[in-house]
Amino acid sequence: MSAAFIFPPPLWPSVAIAHDPRRFPVRRIFCIALNYAAHAREMGKEPAKDASAEPPVFFTKPADAVVESGATIPYPTLTNDFHHEIELVAALGSGGADIPAGQALNCVFGYAAGIDLTRRDLQATARNAGRPWDMSKGFDYSAPIGTIRPVAAIGHPARGRIALSVNGVVRQAGDLSDLIWSVADIIAALSRNVALAPGDLIFTGTPSGVGPLLPGDRVEGEVEHVGTVAVSIGK
Ligand code: MN
Repeated sequence: MSAAFIFPPPLWPSVAIAHDPRRFPVRRIFCIALNYAAHAREMGKEPAKDASAEPPVFFTKPADAVVESGATIPYPTLTNDFHHEIELVAALGSGGADIPAGQALNCVFGYAAGIDLTRRDLQATARNAGRPWDMSKGFDYSAPIGTIRPVAAIGHPARGRIALSVNGVVRQAGDLSDLIWSVADIIAALSRNVALAPGDLIFTGTPSGVGPLLPGDRVEGEVEHVGTVAVSIGK
């Protein structure tokens, strides 16, 4: 007999899959920092010079931070500098530890466009104080994500426009070919930190042009060959 829970366990967070009525169950959300040189520079950081020599920096969001594309989300608490970061998201269908980069893409079930929402002022305050900046990244509704398109349909996008607009005005525009650490590099490095598993999502970093969102804003992101993601910020 299985043990009873003292209250009903929460619904499992999940993401829509293109042309499939089934859902992608989200296990964990991993993110990589400073993976486009122009974004590293706008954050006042020197981009990594040799991706093969320097391991990337990772952080996480709770799985239940995922938000379905099309939703309206509240302007978060505790911030006056709420930022958008459009990102390619890799959705893992299998995992493992110490995965060689040459085999890493075999773990990817599909890709989606996502937005790594950030309380930039909390991040800066924590960073400057030498404190963890979890609460600048891992807050409620901080991971909007579009429909996942399977690798079987689109392959592994290595180039293509990645862009975000706010109220119809383009704020971010880059190209996937500018990733410092490739998706394969990211999976290999992350799998040395933790054993990866089916359901893990990896946000692969944002191009330059990050900036503030305001109540009432309409945010639309796209990753060429992958898909779109859109959210509105509540008033
Ligand atoms: Mn990011």
